[in-house]
Amino acid sequence: MSLSLIERSRRAVWHPCSQMKQHETQPLLPVARAEGVWLYDTDGKRYLDGISSWWVNLFGHGHPHIKAALVDQLDTLSHVMLAGCTHAPVVELSERLSALTGLGHAFYASDGASATEIALKMSAHYWRNHGHPEKSSFIGLQHGYHGETAGALSVTDIPLFREAYGPLVRVSATVPSPDARAAAEGVSAIDHARHCARALEAYLEVHHAETAALIVEPLVQCAAGIAVHDPEYLRLSRALCDRYNVHLVADEIAVGFGRTGSLFAHQQASIVPDFICLSKGLTGGTMALSTVLCTDAVFDAFYDDRTARGFLHSHSYTGNPLACRAALATLEIFDQEDWMARNRATAARLSALCDPLATHEKVLRSRQLGMLWAFDVATDDPKFASRYHAAALHHGLLLRPIGNTLYFMPPYVIDEAASQWLADGALAALNEVLA
Ligand SMILES: *Cc1c(COP(=O)(O)O)cnc(C)c1O
Repeated sequence: MSLSLIERSRRAVWHPCSQMKQHETQPLLPVARAEGVWLYDTDGKRYLDGISSWWVNLFGHGHPHIKAALVDQLDTLSHVMLAGCTHAPVVELSERLSALTGLGHAFYASDGASATEIALKMSAHYWRNHGHPEKSSFIGLQHGYHGETAGALSVTDIPLFREAYGPLVRVSATVPSPDARAAAEGVSAIDHARHCARALEAYLEVHHAETAALIVEPLVQCAAGIAVHDPEYLRLSRALCDRYNVHLVADEIAVGFGRTGSLFAHQQASIVPDFICLSKGLTGGTMALSTVLCTDAVFDAFYDDRTARGFLHSHSYTGNPLACRAALATLEIFDQEDWMARNRATAARLSALCDPLATHEKVLRSRQLGMLWAFDVATDDPKFASRYHAAALHHGLLLRPIGNTLYFMPPYVIDEAASQWLADGALAALNEVLA
């Protein structure tokens, strides 16, 4: 007897972010192909990818421009090591990212967690090269998420991901999150941001001498449950980092590439970070690639005759030409039209369709920023997220709430009919789960 793909996957594959035993009762979704906002299972049933396959997809699955670029790149150069070698895709991508951000010297890896590791290592090594080896601690925000390798976990404040590995993880400082939902009664988001910045200031006043960097997710802490904060927090933390000689790392892995309404989220605060981490949308959801961009001051601290003062970090696939080419093709799609303006229209349309959700009697808070929507649901059901996920699948939707927070992060190409499908299905699934 031949086993189903689902059964073979349960036996052969260890799925991420999953308790494998749950798949005894919750079947995996066997995806055969994808096009635009739609995933198709092996029976041909379609599901709207309402979370852009964990926030990586920007312009829909199978975008013809990215596909053509990848095929062309396959014909010329799939991979070459980047130590001692170079190639056009990595040079052009680095030039473009520098032109877009004002930061440069792109250092590459393959995933977001590695970008976090690189930024932290570079920051501490910068201070060491400047004669301050004691500046080697980091500050993260409460409920922050920066990836799950051991170094990245040290600045990730999500107990479920971290607790089991406590002894393996270095302790970093955690300062209050400017999450607007946590503001005291009658306190505005901007005043809450100022209040949290004062807590950061109090920490830095005492600990700046041993602190290398503060790492933040600009505007939205996505893994915290789409926690949105006022840009004032970024302005104030930039000023504090300057005053106390501490680097500011902007982890734009989730929010970069237009998700919050500007190409990069930190731009809404008109600040320049010392480091920017990018991944997820960088290749439009096609290839694993991440990068860390830094200031000239950082780069210059490593530029020396002595090898040991260099940044000797590497990964085998650093700067992979296929991935860089997919990223270039993604940036070319941004050049084809004003996507921020188009997304404003798309978002207004979907927001209007989401009105019944936003005003639902069991929805406590709804929020929208760029191409991101979130709804906190009043429920005590500890299984809400997994039950909602299953209910949404029945309505042809791939959604995965974070705790009690239902959220949408659809590809930017979602059209009117698909928006209606998303809003209707999400509401129906909510009523079923709460019934
Ligand atoms: C997803 C994410 C990461 C980690 O990226 P991976 O590619 O999953 O390792 C880091 N920071 C933020 C803000 C993220 O959303």
